[in-house]
Amino acid sequence: MAEQEKWGRSTTALHAGYSPVPMDMTPFRSFVPPVIQSAIYPLSDVDHYTRIVSGEEPGYDYGRNSNPTVDVLHKRLAALEGGEAALATPSGVHACFVTLQHLAGVGDEILTSHRIFGEAYGMFYHMAPEKMGIATQLVSDPGNLDEWQDKITSKTRFMWAETPSNPTYFVMDIAGLAEIAHAHNIPLIVDNTLATPCLQQPLALGADIVVHSLTKYMGGQGAIVGGSIVAKQELIRNMVTTISRVGAIMSPMDAWLVLLSLETLPLRMARHSSNAEILVEYLAQHPKVKGINYPSLPQHPQRELAKRQMPDGFGGLFSFEVEGGREGAVQVINSFRLIPIVPSFGTSRTIATHPATHTHCGMKPEEREAVGIYDGLIRLSVGLEDPEDLIVDLEQALDKLKV
Ligand code: PLP
Repeated sequence: MAEQEKWGRSTTALHAGYSPVPMDMTPFRSFVPPVIQSAIYPLSDVDHYTRIVSGEEPGYDYGRNSNPTVDVLHKRLAALEGGEAALATPSGVHACFVTLQHLAGVGDEILTSHRIFGEAYGMFYHMAPEKMGIATQLVSDPGNLDEWQDKITSKTRFMWAETPSNPTYFVMDIAGLAEIAHAHNIPLIVDNTLATPCLQQPLALGADIVVHSLTKYMGGQGAIVGGSIVAKQELIRNMVTTISRVGAIMSPMDAWLVLLSLETLPLRMARHSSNAEILVEYLAQHPKVKGINYPSLPQHPQRELAKRQMPDGFGGLFSFEVEGGREGAVQVINSFRLIPIVPSFGTSRTIATHPATHTHCGMKPEEREAVGIYDGLIRLSVGLEDPEDLIVDLEQALDKLKV
């Protein structure tokens, strides 16, 4: 009698049909990378663990340390950015936090600008000094390389540039910033979320570390929250240790969803960019639109730099200011029929945000004003729809704006 036939019902329910060791993987061969949804991995013998941990043998032991599906994502992210190694994190904010926590500590300084997304502002401007003993220096004009240079001290541990920046599309000179950082022996970190590696390659331009919110274009549909860091192998290895110590890992299912989305990223980014250009062209001639932040327009202050750094398109995010201040913006956004109000960007569907109320409400009004986040500013994340349908929606919403 086969061993299985002697088992009781409970043992059968637990063991029949699948034995991890030894394992015949033939039926699990899969065209799509499999989701290995397992928190633990069987060891072939007691010393197998030591061989895995020492790096003598590849393998997996515990889901808080690593996972095969997430590792496929690591390889793909590193390859897309042209970096040595990558680490996926449970959110984009967490990618920022791990980077901050790894490179700076009590008594250190970091250098960035006000042109960063809302939570990064909260993290660098409030949490770092108040909870971590790290002072944040801010350049007032991130386009002025001399100012970056002048604000570096012996305590500065890194320079952080979000470029293009959310939501005002300020473009920073990555090669110029990298040169300054390297002259002072510190790394340049670039948040490449708005551009994605399809439109901008910060490492090739001289940056040392790239962070992303995978929640946006890389995730693609607004189904997952995630982040990533691409850097040198050694730094990523140290970060992996931290991540497993603090228990902040990306789930295999989320990694799998990002992997599927990445397959179409180049196609999507091309369409996001061309759709955004069409909408910007339409809005630029609209009498109720006061200004637009997008470098396809000749008046964008960093247009030439943007073209140099992003030769294949500018992506799907832009912001525009309407007449009537906050009231005007609210009137327009509330009037959209096709475009929902969502405090995010980078989704396949077009979404609108009011930055002063949503993403950047943590900044003081005068700080927002200083970086162009006016009360009348609307952020549009242009999706993959037929652009004519989006123009119809914009037109009917702007028609309702009484100024
Ligand atoms: N980077 C940029 C430019 C962002 O706009 C955001 C969020 O809005 C993040 C990073 C953080 O990403 P997440 O929301 O996935 O934590």
